Amino acid sequence: MVIPIRAYGDPILKKDCEEIDEDYPELQELINNMFETMYEAKGVGLAAPQVGKSIRLFVVDGTAFADGDPNGNMEELRGFKRVVINPVILESSEDEWVFKEGCLSIPAIREEVTRPSSITIEYYDENFELVEEELDGYHARIVQHEYDHVHGILFTDHLSPLRKRLLKRNLQEISKGNVDVDYKMKFPEKKGKKVVN
Ligand code: ZN
Repeated sequence: MVIPIRAYGDPILKKDCEEIDEDYPELQELINNMFETMYEAKGVGLAAPQVGKSIRLFVVDGTAFADGDPNGNMEELRGFKRVVINPVILESSEDEWVFKEGCLSIPAIREEVTRPSSITIEYYDENFELVEEELDGYHARIVQHEYDHVHGILFTDHLSPLRKRLLKRNLQEISKGNVDVDYKMKFPEKKGKKVVN
């Protein structure tokens, strides 16, 4: 089942999410729905708060980037598919790089974000097996973006005050639903309706 993706301005996107355990109700169904929702939106990552659940869970699959890159630079992302639960970044490299990020909750805006090049992350997979992984390049990039989501942080929070000011109007329009998007979304300020979480 495809779930409408919460848009910028929805208060759930700013909340630090809760850890979960194996008894979380209908977890496998939620994970399946998140993959389906992400694929429908042609995204490479989706975090639980983006579908209205304030829990530390995200899914990634980099294949859409590999498919969409004519130069083949993102081929390493093909098949990079993970379910990540209760993640903790254990180490981040001092080395950083800049990449233009987007977000399914912030359609039509892409901005350069600086992040560490590589990370070591510990998390539980969909079977609640503990995993420790070292990631770099695009893998580390996608996972850090999603890791932020489950801590209430959006990529726009990483921008300079000037960039934020320049984007303010566009972001407000997204909250109101005044944006072209070809997947299902839920806008917090559309037609005077306010989303209550
Ligand atoms: Zn995002």
